[in-house]
Amino acid sequence: MGFPPAGAFTVGNVVISAHQLDDLQRGRPRLIDHEDVHAWQYLLCAGLPFLPLYALAAFWSWGRTGDLAASNPFERQAGLPEGGYIDRPVTNEGFRRLQRSASGLIGTLRR
Ligand SMILES: [Zn+2]
Repeated sequence: MGFPPAGAFTVGNVVISAHQLDDLQRGRPRLIDHEDVHAWQYLLCAGLPFLPLYALAAFWSWGRTGDLAASNPFERQAGLPEGGYIDRPVTNEGFRRLQRSASGLIGTLRR
């Protein structure tokens, strides 16, 4: 998987990508619209607070679906397919994995 995983990511009004703009627009014509929504989200969050809020949303999404984007409200608003993401069912897979890890750790500590 290349970096960034979605092909691009946006901080403020700067879109960061390893690809040339022409290549991005040819391969994923709606990706720039997706990143544009993130620029507005950044503005509406008054700038830097967007970053920890996004991280929290990504963690929430991972817990709910095992995927950082599928249940992330920021990504859903920007459009999952436009961002190159797949919608995934809510299974609480990530939260279950955390619970198993925590149970294993507690079991180890009790021995
Ligand atoms: Zn996105």
